[in-house]
Amino acid sequence: MAKRAKPLLVGLLLGSVLLVSWPRALSSLGPFPYYRLWLEVSFGIGGADPEFTGHEQLEYVNTEGQALEELYLRLYPNGGLTYGSGSLTITAAKVNGTMTELAIEANGTAVRVPLEKPLLPGESLVLELAFTGRVPQGFASSNGSSYGIYDYSGGMLKLANWFPILAAYDEAGWHLDPFYNWGDAVYSETANFEVWITAPAEQVVVASGTELEQIANPDGTVTHHYTAELMRDFFVAMSPYLARLTAQVGSTRVNSYYFAGDELGGQKALEVGANALALFNERFGLYPFPELDLLETSLPWAGGVEYPGVVLISDKLYGSAEYMAKQELQFAMIVSHEVAHQWWYSLVGNDVIREPWLDEALATYSSGIYAQEFLGPRAYQDLLSDWEANWRRARAQVEAPITAPLDRFYNNSIYYGIVYCGGALFYDELRAYLGDGPFFAGLQEYFRRFEYQVAKTNELLATFEEVSGRELDELYNRWLFTPATSPSLVGEGLIGR
Ligand SMILES: [Zn+2]
Repeated sequence: MAKRAKPLLVGLLLGSVLLVSWPRALSSLGPFPYYRLWLEVSFGIGGADPEFTGHEQLEYVNTEGQALEELYLRLYPNGGLTYGSGSLTITAAKVNGTMTELAIEANGTAVRVPLEKPLLPGESLVLELAFTGRVPQGFASSNGSSYGIYDYSGGMLKLANWFPILAAYDEAGWHLDPFYNWGDAVYSETANFEVWITAPAEQVVVASGTELEQIANPDGTVTHHYTAELMRDFFVAMSPYLARLTAQVGSTRVNSYYFAGDELGGQKALEVGANALALFNERFGLYPFPELDLLETSLPWAGGVEYPGVVLISDKLYGSAEYMAKQELQFAMIVSHEVAHQWWYSLVGNDVIREPWLDEALATYSSGIYAQEFLGPRAYQDLLSDWEANWRRARAQVEAPITAPLDRFYNNSIYYGIVYCGGALFYDELRAYLGDGPFFAGLQEYFRRFEYQVAKTNELLATFEEVSGRELDELYNRWLFTPATSPSLVGEGLIGR
């Protein structure tokens, strides 16, 4: 850890534009939104909830091809459910240096930024925001219906979606979707980030992107300076109790952060994470970033959760040698699933509300590809049986196709059975039908075409048809668009978690 004394940046700063260089092919997609974020965390005294203050400077260029009358940003921590009693409050706003009144909408989860005159295609603006946030305590460990992604438990602070983030915009306009108690809530577009995180010196900070430097401040805090280019979100966690193991895969450093005492699990996560990264680099296309972090944390409701550049893994999977041996397959499936999300969700984006199958089915099937490669054909057969059982149970309870939007599912286990397991079974049959060569060529082409963008179901399906030269309508319709139910199983009943 290198500490250098430097003055801490305070307040709303309008600095010079940091030059970001990206591959030439990307110039046709950008310029991407550029976020500069300053975050200062304070841990409550006398048992109070942790709080933070933040500043945001967002440079936005209208690349939507039509004039915009307004911008919308999402304030996810105000949405309840998995954010608990958390909050995110904007205290001041400026558009191009002029103080602006913002309108809070969508039950506090969105803010409308009115523009004095429409922002024409190619025109840019600078939005500056000051904000504060509060984080619930013990929510992840006590609450069975929380992913535990915005929480302070067991000495770890997790800040998912802690800053006002641009809502996704497409031909349907601004997306201000409500949240559900299952699935992912955040639909966002690729952006560039530069972030300064100030925290007590003993905190080990884990975040999206790459740390450039640590700056020791006179008050004993440390400012961690990060850059994250071409990511959809910027996740932050910190704890004084973390240890780290590291491996190099090509030009990517893989870090496995674990709670001191869980070295075995930390080592296993590093092994699976590095193997998955190497395998998916070869099968899908290159992970372009210099760093990937794996983080042990409490996740009451999930085995893992994905963020750009950071993979969360449930601490329930870490333990003694006997314990780790007993759940080797489950551990490998969860870690490889979350690593695969770096391709399917992070690099190739999708509307996680309307087309959640696009990333979840592929991430689930990718864990099967991992199993075949590293655990053998028997493990893959076990996975197929497991997917089939879950798929059958879920289909008996809800009449919704694999490609249905999030609001068609009633709970996490039905959603999992249909979208994850049914979707993975679709890929198993597609691969058997096409053969490995065309199947992986199709996945690679899908990745190449939609990296840093948002893909749609018809674009994925068309890519496999184009690459393989085969017409796949029958297979697509039978698997993806038919809401078949098996009446004999109705009423067996799964209880929602
Ligand atoms: Zn997933």
